[in-house]
Amino acid sequence: MKINNIKHTKHLSPCKISDTICLPDSNVPRIVVIGGGFAGLALVEKLKHKEVQVVLFDKNNFHQFQPLLYQVATSALEPDSIVFPFRKQINGYKNVLFRLAEVEEIQPSSNTIVTNKGIVNYDYLVLATGTTTNFFGMESVEANSLGMKDIRDSLNIRHMMLQNLEQAAITCDEDERDALTNFVIVGGGPAGVEMAGALAEFCKYILPKDYPEYPSSIMNIYLIEAIDKLLSTMSDKASSKTLKYLKDLNVKILFNESVSDYDGSQVTTKSGKTILAKNLIWTAGVKGQFPKGIDEKHVVKGNRIKTDSYLKVEGYKNIFAIGDIASIITDDTPRGHPQVAQTAIQQGKYLGDKLLEIIKNKPIKPFKYKDKGSLATVGKRRAVADLGRFKFAGYFAWLLWSVVHLMSISGFRNRLMVGFNWAVSYFTYEKSNRVIIRNFKPKPPVNHTKK
Ligand SMILES: Cc1cc2nc3c(=O)[nH]c(=O)nc-3n(C[C@H](O)[C@H](O)[C@H](O)COP(=O)(O)OP(=O)(O)OC[C@H]3O[C@@H](n4cnc5c(N)ncnc54)[C@H](O)[C@@H]3O)c2cc1C
Repeated sequence: MKINNIKHTKHLSPCKISDTICLPDSNVPRIVVIGGGFAGLALVEKLKHKEVQVVLFDKNNFHQFQPLLYQVATSALEPDSIVFPFRKQINGYKNVLFRLAEVEEIQPSSNTIVTNKGIVNYDYLVLATGTTTNFFGMESVEANSLGMKDIRDSLNIRHMMLQNLEQAAITCDEDERDALTNFVIVGGGPAGVEMAGALAEFCKYILPKDYPEYPSSIMNIYLIEAIDKLLSTMSDKASSKTLKYLKDLNVKILFNESVSDYDGSQVTTKSGKTILAKNLIWTAGVKGQFPKGIDEKHVVKGNRIKTDSYLKVEGYKNIFAIGDIASIITDDTPRGHPQVAQTAIQQGKYLGDKLLEIIKNKPIKPFKYKDKGSLATVGKRRAVADLGRFKFAGYFAWLLWSVVHLMSISGFRNRLMVGFNWAVSYFTYEKSNRVIIRNFKPKPPVNHTKK
């Protein structure tokens, strides 16, 4: 593919045109990247030390390792060990700059982005803004439950859970106590399954020691799944093994059920079942998030941005999208590629290489996804793995899961901290981070945009 007709704007300095965010002057093309998740960071890594100026924008000053959010939520890991500061990541990358700002709008006609801190021009723009929790328009559920999409969500879940367990020891009202100690997780995908397994182990190993006044049966964990299968994107073997592992841990699984209402104390399902629970964790869906300015006609199912096979947003010459937000729709991928870290990393690396070719007006090959397989864990020592023809479950799958996740975390110190925590917990079943540092207050109702 050749992208012709890209007019390189004169390379910008803060005093020229409309830049109001200070950036050093440069005579090479400026690539603005919005979002430092798996996709954005993989792209930045490819572009370091190259003949381009890269400006990474993120609303946080850190990258987060979402696959282990559930371990922070269940007190197994400290938040510091799964987040990594961008400035540390880009230490020594002379052509890469980080700016902490939330991008609010893209103005393609003037090659400009508008952030909450100011305005910046770009020659090339890469959207890598990922997804946010999708409550499918259910306002009562959104207002009263907790999603698990970032580190703050995990800390909220942890504090909600520990506060409710403490409150259960105080109250004399039995219904109230039930509600405080019942946990409902919605969504039987990897995030829901892993959360349910970790909570069940908390119930089995920590509850009897920390709360000897409770009968062991006091904490109930429900997992609600809308279809008749857990881990529906994995093999039948992975799905049935996961079901067995969760049942062994006393997780109560409700198939073909979905939540229709939640008032903060009682969950109501579509079939009319009710569960008393003050803890509802929502992992049942995500939707793309990105700043306004992209023409609606390029936005497809899941609020993702439709790109061509080269990850260029349809209808624009110099705007690209990668990771969870991007959707390449072909006969082979009618619903886009899977929204997983592997896709994001592969797309980030691909575009990092190809942008350098595009700038030189060289032809490029389309993006090809290489499926490296899927892993999910259910508590300690048990996991399921689908690696091409090889599908297995149990201890070896769990070891593989542990190694893959450990190696994927950013930063040597973080890997050391996670590895140490896991080693201690392997032998002791301890989760040592169960401290209430800040008071969790349920969030106020939020106005939600649909899609
Ligand atoms: C709980 C959970 C568990 C998961 N487990 C797995 C797993 O085991 N294996 C797996 O492969 N995948 C897993 N995933 C999915 C995986 O995390 C995503 O596919 C991956 O993070 C997508 O990468 P991304 O770079 O597209 O987006 P993200 O990693 O979400 O990064 C987006 C970045 O953009 C920033 N941003 C967003 N909007 C703006 C804005 N307007 N301005 C500035 N910055 C902005 C955000 O702060 C964030 O840093 C899991 C996801 C969750 C939530």
